[in-house]
Amino acid sequence: MSIIKLKNVSKFYRNKNTISSGFNKINLELDMGEFVTITGESGSGKSTLLNVISGLDSYEEGEMYINGEETSHYTESDYEEYRRKYIGNIFQHFNLVNSYTVFENVELVLLLNGYNRSEIRPKVLDILKTVGLTKYKNTKASKLSGGQKQRVAIARALAKDTPIIVADEPTGNLDVQSAKSIMKLLKEISQNKLVVIVTHNYEQVEEYTTRKISMHDGKIIEDKHISSYQKCLPVEVAYKDLTKKNKLMLGFRNAFNIKTKFLLLFFIYFFLTFIVFSEYSSLRKTEFDASLTGYNNYFTDRRIERVVLKKSDATPFREEDYKKIENIENIESTFKNDTLLDVIVSIENNDMYIAGDIKPLSSLDKVDSGNMPKNKNEIVLAGSEDSYFFLFYDKELINKETDLILDNRSESIDRIKITGLKYREGDGHTFYVSDDILEKARLGTNKNYSNTELSIEKDTFTEEDSRIQYRIEPSSKVEKGTAYIFNELNMYCNDFSCQNKKLKLDVDNIYYKSNLELLVKNTITKDNVKELLGVKIEDTIGKIYINEEDYKTLYDKGNYQISVFLKDIKKSDETLASLQKEGYETYSLKNNLVNPSQDVQGLINMMRLIVFGIATGSLFFISYVIIKIILKSRNIYFSTIRILGATKKTACDLLNIELLVDIHLAYLIFTTLTLFVKSGAIHNKFIMDMVSFFTFKDYLMIYIILIVMSLLISNRYSHKLFKSSAMSTYREEV
Ligand code: ADP
Ligand code: MG
Repeated sequence: MSIIKLKNVSKFYRNKNTISSGFNKINLELDMGEFVTITGESGSGKSTLLNVISGLDSYEEGEMYINGEETSHYTESDYEEYRRKYIGNIFQHFNLVNSYTVFENVELVLLLNGYNRSEIRPKVLDILKTVGLTKYKNTKASKLSGGQKQRVAIARALAKDTPIIVADEPTGNLDVQSAKSIMKLLKEISQNKLVVIVTHNYEQVEEYTTRKISMHDGKIIEDKHISSYQKCLPVEVAYKDLTKKNKLMLGFRNAFNIKTKFLLLFFIYFFLTFIVFSEYSSLRKTEFDASLTGYNNYFTDRRIERVVLKKSDATPFREEDYKKIENIENIESTFKNDTLLDVIVSIENNDMYIAGDIKPLSSLDKVDSGNMPKNKNEIVLAGSEDSYFFLFYDKELINKETDLILDNRSESIDRIKITGLKYREGDGHTFYVSDDILEKARLGTNKNYSNTELSIEKDTFTEEDSRIQYRIEPSSKVEKGTAYIFNELNMYCNDFSCQNKKLKLDVDNIYYKSNLELLVKNTITKDNVKELLGVKIEDTIGKIYINEEDYKTLYDKGNYQISVFLKDIKKSDETLASLQKEGYETYSLKNNLVNPSQDVQGLINMMRLIVFGIATGSLFFISYVIIKIILKSRNIYFSTIRILGATKKTACDLLNIELLVDIHLAYLIFTTLTLFVKSGAIHNKFIMDMVSFFTFKDYLMIYIILIVMSLLISNRYSHKLFKSSAMSTYREEV
């Protein structure tokens, strides 16, 4: 049985409108051991026939048998396998990888056939000795003479060690001497193989030929037996696929192999990285800026640097907590009496109502009008010089005595006197008060945040009770363990007197519960309040006075909530994460701003994302076009390795690796650069602005975007490059 058999096989070329014939109704049987020479004038179909035989090109009509197997159902991958197992090609134009050395060219075949590098080296050296190129093993293929190049091609075929060798005008580009020695070499290596040679110059091969085939106009016009040959059986090449390790090695080699190509690609990818970085950063920056505007309904102090903390285990803060928090990076300051940050106090009088926040007097060094306070009930009022009240009530305000009222509850913190005014920029007012008043305001706020249940005899009242309303007040005049109650409460006791009865207070807030049992010692009325407690109040209804220390027992069980302020708001996510890791629950004002128009904001964000997408998309196409131009010279390489036996997938992978190496390098170098700028080792405002608030997540995001882009580029490119058969890819490019 012949190894190759053609029955009425025809090959047509379809170009746009015309169909031309490569060869027509060829019948041919080739045996193992033969040395076949095909001759004929140019254009007679020799190359076409050779390419069909070697599975590089398809045929349109007739039947071809390989080792007895019909091939009409062969797919591209069947042909791939056939080429790997059976065919070694030698071309007129050598088809070497010019940027590789002689050694690397031969090594390539063995790598593609799945050998390990340790097995490869001695084998390659051995083969180079056979073809007489040992001296040139480290010479670049491009530096060799024609005859030497063809020897490399033969060495490659030897390395592949296939049962069939096809050579298309192997001596066409060589001088007479070289041609002679190449033919001799071919004969030497053709033991137990089928060799098919196409040549113009029949005399050169006559002495080796066993069979001569002449072609004319796509037909065989002569098929002549010249000499006898030793019949033999085909020995298929047992091959494996390129190993993962070698694939990576080859990809890397290809990435750096051609210096100008490498530099061009690197430059493009570096540029791409830069653009993606800056686009991404401008997206994040606008997002970030937008996140800083808005309101928060729960907190009065809405500085975006503020983070409210409580402990995850719901215990009060201790000294060691403050120490731990101080040591966390990016914390500018800690504010222990957190509730004071959100207290609103006010003064009012006839047509005047001034509200503002409250700050310690110690943070103020001088006043602009009036005097600094001298005793604990004197305060300074601050505000803009041209605010309404300052403009019109300037004189009246100073030395005014009034109640300082807490949180619009119409509950007085204390009687105060304004001694001075302080002018500053901005809206609103600030009351600068003594530590004593600050402490009263703090306890009052704690009380406001709590529910206090009151039980007396059989009755229990809550603060929302419709029967009575009551407020617990501290007083130094009331003895510990006792309470002075308002008159109306007596109605709920037997005989309308609660005197010497037990009064129970149960306090409950989000952080703790506390309770106290007190003995009712007095009933206060409008008439005796001044005498009993030394305070002058118009209205005693609802007031229950208890000793200051008892008051603290109920409402000051330690600090359960504090605020910290961040140095750099851009690093807020990292800082919050560290705080959470240390066991604190965080509430960042920045992250909890409510925007008045959420829908509009969402829409704007989406638009921004779309713009980013479009920009990245067009960038992708621009880079694709440029990279395609740069890679044009790589087409020969990829069709060459396919002719040598690389599968489509291997070729795609190699291209991917080659491009991924470049993008990684560009990304790494650019990222390193930004990190140097960030750390302050290099000063560059432009890059600093771009990446100052980037976190690991952002770098990862950009990395993913770039890798995806790079993979899309190489896949698109390889899809185009490998969609046609190996030969047409080659033909188009040569
Ligand atoms: P030879 O190798 O004997 O010089 P070829 O096999 O290259 O001849 O060409 C045989 C015929 O096929 C010629 O008429 C040539 O014009 C035609 N041909 C070869 N390659 C193509 C192609 N890619 N497209 C169209 N026609 C082709
Ligand atoms: Mg030809």
